[in-house]
Parts: sequence; C-alpha cells; structure tokens
Amino acid sequence: MDKSLRKAVIAGNWKMNKTPDEAKAIIEAMKPLVAGADCDVVLCVPYVDIFAAQQAAAGSNIQIGAENCHWAESGAFTGEVSAPMLKAIGVQYVIIGHSERRQYFGETDETVNKRVRAALDSGLTVILCVGELLDQRKKGITMEVVRSQVKVALGGVSADEMKQIIIAYEPVWAIGTGETATAEQANEVNHAIREVIGELYNADVAAATTIQYGGSMNAKNAAELVAQVDVDGGLIGGASLKAEDFSVIVKAASV
Ligand code: PEP
Repeated sequence: MDKSLRKAVIAGNWKMNKTPDEAKAIIEAMKPLVAGADCDVVLCVPYVDIFAAQQAAAGSNIQIGAENCHWAESGAFTGEVSAPMLKAIGVQYVIIGHSERRQYFGETDETVNKRVRAALDSGLTVILCVGELLDQRKKGITMEVVRSQVKVALGGVSADEMKQIIIAYEPVWAIGTGETATAEQANEVNHAIREVIGELYNADVAAATTIQYGGSMNAKNAAELVAQVDVDGGLIGGASLKAEDFSVIVKAASV
C-alpha cells in the first residue's frame, strides 16, 4: 500500500493540561522546531486554551484542534461545546471517541457516531479514536472490537466525507502507561482498519485514509512506529507536552 497516497499527521492531545499562558509558551518553543515538517502538525488543546494557542501558532505550520464536541448544534447541554461553535472560532480538527471519554464519561460507539456526524456537518476534520482494552487483547478479540468500533463510528459517513476523517488506533492499555504497542502490533491493527474502510467504501478511500497510532508514542519509539506501512503518523499525549520530544516525533514522521 503506497504511503504517498495519504498525509502523515502528528497530532498532540494535551488532555486536561496547560493554562493559556503555558500553552502560548510551549507553542512558541515548538514553532521553530517543527517548521518545515513534511507532515501535518496539529495540537488538540483544552477549550480554554484554543484562543491563546491559535494566536501563538499564527503563521506557523501548527494547526489547533479541540479534544471533543457535542452532537447537538446548541441547547441544554451544560458543560458541552458544539461543532458549529468550534468552527466559528476557526478550529479545524477535533478528537472524537478518545478512550478517556469512553472510560470516564460514558461515551459509546453510538454517541461517538453522533459526534462524528456533527463534526462533519460543520466541516471539521475528525480524529476518530478506536482501540481495544487489555482484557480484549488477551482474549484475542482485538480485531473484532476495533472493526466494530470503526463501523459504528462511521455509520452514515459518505465516501466523500472520509476526506475529513483521520483514524487513530489507540490500544487502551498503551495510553499513558509507558507501554507501547510493538511496531508490528500497531501495523497489524492499522492494516485491519484499512481493510474495514475498504469494505465500507472502496480501495481508493482505504488507501487515502490517514490512520495514526497512539499510545505512549515518544521521541525514542516514534521513528520505528511511523515507518510502518499502515501507520500514518501518531496521536501523542504525554510527549506532546514537551516541545523537544514532540518535535522529534514530528521529524520522525517527516522522512
Ligand atoms: C492519547 O492521549 O491519545 C495518548 C496516546 O496518550 P499517551 O501518548 O500519553 O499515551
């Protein structure tokens, strides 16, 4: 499968970290380190940091995204933020279905699908997270779990809209644990995801879809992971909070 048919994307997920001033400082430090990268560079930041991050990133190759969005356009959903709201403030990327949202905030494949639909309707690019629990890997059902997550999350998404979808394979046991999937494990599941996309759409859409790996990717292991034929960059948590480490990962995806 030809990697040149799709763009590698390195996206940071800051989770619930950094104040606006801290966001500004780290982006100022990152800018010269990631300038000229041959991959897309995105930072998904807490809602309150978006404005400061956009200002700090202006004129650079760093794009700013959000970490979630609700499925309704507006209404009585205290504490939530809608896709049109994100679009209105110039956000282009949004993470949907992160395992921490599924684990701590009751997200299901069905609500993930609703959020994906809303994001697409607002013209946002979705970073859709899927991945198995440790128990599911031990039981040997990783492929079934991930295939099903992908199918449900993409319900009602057209082949044309797939241009706005990035998939991040994130084994839950590897997120924030320091335990990374091996390059072979990451490539195997990413390949299976590409097969599902081929079944749902066609071979062209499958070949053009960016499929990242995420889960304790860092400055040391990134090069081997992103070199895999079906791994098109990464979704980076902890290491995206350090300018130097994040830039090493960006460079690894740029070769
Ligand atoms: C993530 O939050 O998506 C993630 C992959 O985190 P970490 O890199 O810290 O494992």
